[in-house]
Amino acid sequence: MNSKSLINKDLDKPKRNCAIFGIFNHPEASVMTYYGLHALQHRGQEASGICSSEFIPEKNKYRFNIYKGHGLAHDIFADQNILTDVLKGTAAIGHNRYSTTGASDSRSNIQPFKVNYKEGYLALSHNGNFANTKELRTRLQNAGTIFQTTSDSEILLHLIARSKKKELIDKILEACRQIRGAYSIILLSDDKLFAIRDPYAVRPLSMGRLGHSFVFASETCGFDIINAKYIREIKPGEIVQIDKEVIKTGKEKSFTIKKLGETKHCIFEYVYFSRPDSTIFGNTVDKARRKLGKNLAIEKPAPVSKPDDKKVVVISVPDSSNTATLGFLTESIKYNKYIKLELALIRSHYIGRTFIQPGQNNRELKVKAKFNTVKSVIKNRIIVLVDDSIVRGTTAKQLVKLIKEAHPKEIHLRITSPPIIAPCHYGMDFPSKEELIANQCNRDLEKIKEFLDVDSVEYLSLEKLHESVPEGIDSYGNKIGYCDACFSGKYPIPIEEIDKSEFDD
Ligand code: SF4
Repeated sequence: MNSKSLINKDLDKPKRNCAIFGIFNHPEASVMTYYGLHALQHRGQEASGICSSEFIPEKNKYRFNIYKGHGLAHDIFADQNILTDVLKGTAAIGHNRYSTTGASDSRSNIQPFKVNYKEGYLALSHNGNFANTKELRTRLQNAGTIFQTTSDSEILLHLIARSKKKELIDKILEACRQIRGAYSIILLSDDKLFAIRDPYAVRPLSMGRLGHSFVFASETCGFDIINAKYIREIKPGEIVQIDKEVIKTGKEKSFTIKKLGETKHCIFEYVYFSRPDSTIFGNTVDKARRKLGKNLAIEKPAPVSKPDDKKVVVISVPDSSNTATLGFLTESIKYNKYIKLELALIRSHYIGRTFIQPGQNNRELKVKAKFNTVKSVIKNRIIVLVDDSIVRGTTAKQLVKLIKEAHPKEIHLRITSPPIIAPCHYGMDFPSKEELIANQCNRDLEKIKEFLDVDSVEYLSLEKLHESVPEGIDSYGNKIGYCDACFSGKYPIPIEEIDKSEFDD
């Protein structure tokens, strides 16, 4: 049958690339890792994997057990015996993947990656992108390294394995100091676990405790599911080492790759990528996301209905825009008492696999498989549709078409971030610059409005975006700064092979 599969992913959004999780000193390390990956599934739905370190007393050595596959964590680990009988051991790391580098359909590119080097095993889970991959890869290949994958993450393992330093931590520090870019990494050796964060701290990575275990996760929702307690963020440019001695003292060992004094956190984590119930960069996502909606209502308010009209209806594009929509409504009510929130778009969470028959409109069916409208609350109303971002605009257009089938009076689109004008080189997957709707329409709101077939479209400004997120000095004394390159075209970390003129305004 000439059909294409539809996997349950967010339509036409930047693809969150990866989630990482790790736990040390737990009798059910793999089971805990599975639950962590389950809570972090929103950061990557293409593939999942777990690697555990198991001590074999009769051989007096460690064995690394690994299991990975394409799809969602609950499908890959559907057979519970995999976690209890295969992935044995008291330390484990896990990874959910959405590919940003490396062929996405290649099984060898699914993490964790594992190598056996002269001093034992190493396994790695990585979130982010190295910005000097080509340079490092060429250097390693010239020195005789054979790569097993096309992913940039493998580079770190080879840099560590080739290091002449004596102690493992010194090998890791030397390797990290050669890498430029965005990386939050959890690394497992035979008897130690390391949590590593780049000096700009682009991607989130937090540490928690669960009894006598140490736990690490991209977002704290990965702790909540296993009742682990959030302790702190991994500092910018820090490597945390956990080993048997740390378990005894209860105090993690900390090493520094490099101190910059200012972070470049990904601002899009607050807009869309992270879950609102998570703490990232030491702050709650919920608070920032509500403020995005509030500032949007101040800057680009909803239309005020005339006295003889019914109330203006605010609806969110579920689930990612729900929290910002609450902020938008709370602020809007202050100046417009004829406005209310309705749950008019209903999202199906059970899309699974759908088959597109030849001749069917693929995108329309994808949108209809995911959303439906509550027609009675839309009919004859002025609708304010709040969404977090528009990438190509193709899904937004279908969504507007779907809402129009319920006969609203008007549709006004409000976006809680600025127009996306440039791709991400630090770990998120965007389409090419040419495919972005803001560039296709030369950043002309009138043209975007016409393309989407709405009565008005407005975005939050870059200035108000920055006003919505935490600022000042973080608890480690760093000035809190952000990467906003996909909105501004200004990349804070130099990237190889980029034509800078491409992003000039
Ligand atoms: S370009 Fe910067 S702000 Fe945009 S997604 Fe990438 S890291 Fe985040």
